[in-house]
Amino acid sequence: MEGIIYDPIEHVPSPIRSGPLSETPDHRPTEPPKQPNKSDAMSPEQLAEAKRYGRQSLVCDLADRALDIVYLGVMALVLARPIDRWLQSWPLLDRWWTLRLTAMFAIVFAAHVAVSFLLSAYSGHVLEHRFGLSNQTFGAWLWRYVKRILLAGVFGLAMFVGLFWLIWTTGSYWWLFAAGAFFLVSVLLGQLAPVLIMPLFHKIVPLDYPELQERLGRLVEGTGLSIEGVYRLDLSEETSKANAMLAGLGRTRRVLLGDTLINECGPDELEVIFAHEIGHHVFRHIHKLIFIGLVYSTIGFWVCDRLIAIWVGPIAGGINGYALLPVYVLPLIMLILTVFTNLIEPIQNIISRRFERQCDRYALARTGRREAYLSAFRKLAKLNKDDPDPHWLETFLFHSHPPIGQRLAMAESLDRSTRQSPAHGS
Ligand SMILES: [Zn+2]
Repeated sequence: MEGIIYDPIEHVPSPIRSGPLSETPDHRPTEPPKQPNKSDAMSPEQLAEAKRYGRQSLVCDLADRALDIVYLGVMALVLARPIDRWLQSWPLLDRWWTLRLTAMFAIVFAAHVAVSFLLSAYSGHVLEHRFGLSNQTFGAWLWRYVKRILLAGVFGLAMFVGLFWLIWTTGSYWWLFAAGAFFLVSVLLGQLAPVLIMPLFHKIVPLDYPELQERLGRLVEGTGLSIEGVYRLDLSEETSKANAMLAGLGRTRRVLLGDTLINECGPDELEVIFAHEIGHHVFRHIHKLIFIGLVYSTIGFWVCDRLIAIWVGPIAGGINGYALLPVYVLPLIMLILTVFTNLIEPIQNIISRRFERQCDRYALARTGRREAYLSAFRKLAKLNKDDPDPHWLETFLFHSHPPIGQRLAMAESLDRSTRQSPAHGS
């Protein structure tokens, strides 16, 4: 949701959802222009449609979050113990805790998929078709969904088995070890995402666009990025929305330009969008996000530890409490991490929107193409049916990118101040 086009694990039990797989996806585009004479402006009908789409997407998102929390709440507080007792009636599962934990995860995960499937299909397929944004059949959508679920299942299982092992073996400081492990996984996934995970969902090929490559080559000079690291991301078989992103760490660092974007934008516009992505590289935003992830995961796991102590302490208790932490605590941990993730999201979004504004300014200064910036963002707004001016509370709580209106206004005000003082904008 949220205009993040590439998010292989949305609709997934959520501690993972906003976890280490997130790159820096882009371009919640920008405001419908105030000047009615611009041909790329949104018409009143288009604007109204974008608002309807934004509202309905938001309702789906909120319903999805509520469903996650209600489902995990019922699992954690009502069903987990009976399920665990039933699992213990199997001799093998009674003896092997890791196996029992695996079975518990499989049940919680599978039931979650079953409970949320209709909503996922509605928001991921029906809604996108209703607004003419999807290019895929239901079968194609379902195949992507299955791949996403399988990936999330395998990944989630590894994460939670690892987490329980840390709790069972490292005792009361498990949350420090868990945060450290989360950090390592973030770094690893940051490296692997563009080469191993994203290709599962989209074709990614080196950009083949000589005229543009020459211009982009000039833009990356001195930034440490290479023009060989620019790729075309095949989005058009899934969606008509346009997007670009910076992904990867170290040798896998690259800029991905959606084919939808390349088809719709001219070289000047692509240059500005590309420069925005270079900004994310120059300002080391992925590194910073991983570090911020370390801070919030430390806090999150600590909160988890305190709440587990309150909930399970009297039962498991004593010096061996952690070593004997029961398997039925799994959904409770998922619930705590999910609620925590939702609560800190607005803080993450404040930081993310700040990064985006920084890159917008960078793109304008680096290219000097203000008109191309304005037309590119207007175009993106139209293509993605992005509400240029959502309610401030919606932006504050849920949006990782500034509203389009603000992004355009920024470019326009920058121009005015440039005219007032020629020295500005260096
Ligand atoms: Zn960005």
